[in-house]
Amino acid sequence: MNDLAELYQELILDHNKSPRNCRKLDDANRKADGFNPLCGDKVSVSIKLDGDLISDVAFQGSGCAISTASASLMTESLKGKSLDEAQQLFDQFHELVTGDANQADSSHDMGKLAVFSNVGNYPARVKCATLAWHTFKAALDGDDTNVTTE
Ligand code: ZN
Repeated sequence: MNDLAELYQELILDHNKSPRNCRKLDDANRKADGFNPLCGDKVSVSIKLDGDLISDVAFQGSGCAISTASASLMTESLKGKSLDEAQQLFDQFHELVTGDANQADSSHDMGKLAVFSNVGNYPARVKCATLAWHTFKAALDGDDTNVTTE
């Protein structure tokens, strides 16, 4: 368990130091901004939706290591997914970090996202981990039409 915790820690530090898909998405057709006042994390998520397929997803923002690493790992996980798969991942991730589900079960096929399985032990950090996901969801749902690029 200690080895696993260390591995998780390293993965979060790595994604915080060199976030993946941290860029502007010029041809995005969905976009939303998120803010976590508890910690001061800001993230803006851009999605290029091709019919039912998330062909590209990127983020920009500034925040703590958890929020940045979560946004980075989220974009990696969501790219190339269908809307249904994305919704499923969103639900799984939410259960994982809020501890609603049996952790062993929900982290089963989540790949690297399982690094956030112990965030639930730190309630103040849960919002850092879920910020990017809620922003992604808002972008998909078109909740934030003000910032849409269309
Ligand atoms: Zn934070």
